[in-house]
Amino acid sequence: MPLHRVVVVGASAAGLTAAEALRRRGFDGTVTLIGDEPHPPYDRPPLSKQVLAGSWQPERAALRDDTALDALDAEFLLGRRAVGLDVDRRRVLLDGDGHDGHVGHVGHVDYDAVVIATGVRPRSLPGADLAGVHLLRTLDDALALRTRLLGDPKVVVVGAGFLGCEVAAAARTMGRDVTVVDPAPAPLHRLFGDRIGARAAELHRDHGVVLRLGVGVTRFRSAAGRVIGLELADGSALDADVVVLAVGAAPATGWLADSGLPLADGVVCDDRCRAAPHVYAAGDVASWHNPLFGTRMRVEHRMNATEQAMAVAGNLLGDDRPFAPVPYFWTDQYDTKIQAYGIFPAGAPCQITHGDPDEHRFVASYGYQGRVVGVLGWNSPREVRTMRRLITEHAPWPTAATV
Ligand SMILES: Cc1cc2nc3c(=O)[nH]c(=O)nc-3n(C[C@H](O)[C@H](O)[C@H](O)COP(=O)(O)OP(=O)(O)OC[C@H]3O[C@@H](n4cnc5c(N)ncnc54)[C@H](O)[C@@H]3O)c2cc1C
Repeated sequence: MPLHRVVVVGASAAGLTAAEALRRRGFDGTVTLIGDEPHPPYDRPPLSKQVLAGSWQPERAALRDDTALDALDAEFLLGRRAVGLDVDRRRVLLDGDGHDGHVGHVGHVDYDAVVIATGVRPRSLPGADLAGVHLLRTLDDALALRTRLLGDPKVVVVGAGFLGCEVAAAARTMGRDVTVVDPAPAPLHRLFGDRIGARAAELHRDHGVVLRLGVGVTRFRSAAGRVIGLELADGSALDADVVVLAVGAAPATGWLADSGLPLADGVVCDDRCRAAPHVYAAGDVASWHNPLFGTRMRVEHRMNATEQAMAVAGNLLGDDRPFAPVPYFWTDQYDTKIQAYGIFPAGAPCQITHGDPDEHRFVASYGYQGRVVGVLGWNSPREVRTMRRLITEHAPWPTAATV
């Protein structure tokens, strides 16, 4: 079937990249990007780093300038929410209360192919609907949190994954009093296990963060609708003026509930990132079979949004290639850069393959089912990039490789 109209739902990293890749590859039909945020596409990683800490003006997080967006020759429906997908009629259904004056004007957009790139929505906690409790996913979230941090509040971050750790680092860099709470035994523990968790705990303690680990939040304390503290499962309590919830996110698939598409921790796709005829998914929302690791995965990392969107654009134009990347992730906390390639299954053994953790520069590799599946660099960008080949070469575990 000829391809004339591509509709992309989600106008952020993956959605914009899909549109750009289609154009780069010579697609000259219509491209429509639908995004429920009012802003032109912007990048999220700086939100918890430079934008929150104030070293970047928010405009700097824009993914493209106006000239580049014009050159894309795409129709942007911003401030518009997709509320349904009719796969039989090949139609995206839109709500009627956009911020762009389109109220009730565009009820649907027809497509020959659709790319689902709606990302994830942050999770909250019961009882968290209080002034002073913040989530961090959007530019508006980051600006609201920054404004509050400027008032010198006592900050509690709930969740010691990469996002919670970055928020803690930014708030400490601003000189705030910061406590991080997590039922896990260490920061980054769920991502990278004990050894890296211990290093991350040390990093944050060295910068003056109070860590309350191995204990969860049971209740928010409030006065006049504003948070004033938290109660923890061990019976203790923390005072707080600002609470940041960084407790994970769920794929933004609610609008697809009646579509008949397979949904299970994201949009379930095959190894071509295809969920159904004429329907593809890319970025945080997409679950696909990665043949390099022989497993299904969904990756909430920035690089994957770009790479997967490019793969989707190629497959839309007939490449018919599996998407088999080595996932890549980085996080910046204080002056420490952590970069990770591959996958890090829970409980996977980890070995230091280069450098010395006590000198805060090292590479660790992770094994699973007898082969190297992940490498992590701690302030070692060049070395970890070199070690990435252990994954693509299916190097046996444990490895004797050196940089
Ligand atoms: C604060 C922060 C810091 C991060 N830092 C890092 C980092 O250091 N390293 C790293 O690797 N990754 C990082 N990430 C993750 C990275 O930003 C994401 O992997 C990336 O943004 C995913 O892009 P995406 O386009 O798939 O989804 P998103 O960027 O989430 O974009 C999805 C878009 O779709 C919109 N949308 C959702 N539902 C609808 C609907 N029904 N109709 C219309 N629009 C809809 C959303 O509002 C959003 O604008 C960070 C994320 C955050 C939030």
